[in-house]
Amino acid sequence: MEDCIFCKIANGEIPSKLVYEDEAVAAFYDLTPQAPIHVLIVPKRHYADILEAEESGAPLNQMARAAKTIARQLGLEENGFRLVINTGADGGQTVPHLHMHMMGGRAFGWPAG
Ligand code: AMP
Ligand code: ZN
Repeated sequence: MEDCIFCKIANGEIPSKLVYEDEAVAAFYDLTPQAPIHVLIVPKRHYADILEAEESGAPLNQMARAAKTIARQLGLEENGFRLVINTGADGGQTVPHLHMHMMGGRAFGWPAG
């Protein structure tokens, strides 16, 4: 997808601080971190949001699997972390390429804002 910033990051056209990559998924540090560790996990294939992802949920499985690996890699297994997928206007989504926020290194309250 042309002019999609996360497509460009996922295919290396725009530099990022890459944390993890496999055939289906890339993960990189968020530019404006909301936690000591704030990583974005994105499918390499373009989906605007979770509603566009296949019924099978395959991209979500791939992102969740990456989150497990990253948790181990960044030492987030012991204290845990938060995974968030903002969707659409009410969800506060600002980048229209499906992504999962992975945040850790501090405790979060609930419910969120
Ligand atoms: P959302 O509001 O859920 O769509 O999240 C988009 C996230 O992308 C925000 O947390 C931004 O800080 C982050 N972001 C935007 N551009 C970049 C970029 N070039 N590299 C890393 N993170 C970015
Ligand atoms: Zn994209």
